[in-house]
Amino acid sequence: MTVRARRWAVVPAAGRGERIGGRVPKQYLPLLGRPVLSWSLAALLAERSIHGVVVALAAGDRRFARLPEARDPRVRTCRGGARRELSVVNALDALADVARETDWVLVHDAARPCLARADLRALFAEVGDDPVGGLLAVPVGDTLKAAGCDGRAERTVSREGLWRALTPQMFRYGVLRRALALSIARERTVTDEASAVEALGLRPRLVAGGPGNVKITLPGDRALAAAVLATMGGRKGENRLRVRRPRA
Ligand code: C5P
Repeated sequence: MTVRARRWAVVPAAGRGERIGGRVPKQYLPLLGRPVLSWSLAALLAERSIHGVVVALAAGDRRFARLPEARDPRVRTCRGGARRELSVVNALDALADVARETDWVLVHDAARPCLARADLRALFAEVGDDPVGGLLAVPVGDTLKAAGCDGRAERTVSREGLWRALTPQMFRYGVLRRALALSIARERTVTDEASAVEALGLRPRLVAGGPGNVKITLPGDRALAAAVLATMGGRKGENRLRVRRPRA
């Protein structure tokens, strides 16, 4: 008898968000009356097929417990690590007693509050039973410049075949553990889970997501996220800024 793979979510939320400045980490900055992390978690919890969510928190975090999502029975927490990938590894450890090797794990940035339900459903549908997994991504539309130290353009980089990686990124529990362990052992910089999986020689599926799934990184990003959420409001979970999905 084959056992149906369950879905778990991991939310690394232990970063300090230094590029945005200020004393409050970016995942706790207010956004339309709620902290950024509250929006990110609510988008995942709205999906009933997600069995449980692990949130990796910085040592001494006293803000998380105040979020309404902290009381959801599907949510548990763990201690974050010094780098994003170490936070994800700690969260995977926290699932070790319940997750099977072939279960799916969705890793979603705490700082991405505008995840549309349509994008999540597209990820599930297109990854399907893929042996590797996949991620939401957006084809690069702008012309890319490589800059010199003087801040001047040195050359133009072809955008052909380039995508911007978003989250959630969805991989089998066992594959993700092995991928991150290898990257950490090799001391490779891991800015997303897919890059660790690629280093195993596997090729994650790229699933076209909407451009509204912004990550709060720089000061202007919050206003952009607020505008996106305003367009999503009312029609819950639907992001009207969605583009037509090209076939990956
Ligand atoms: O800094 P960056 O935007 O790449 O962070 C992406 C996500 O990783 C954020 O949600 C942040 O809180 C999380 N993170 C973490 N542990 C760290 C560093 C970042 O959980 N040590």
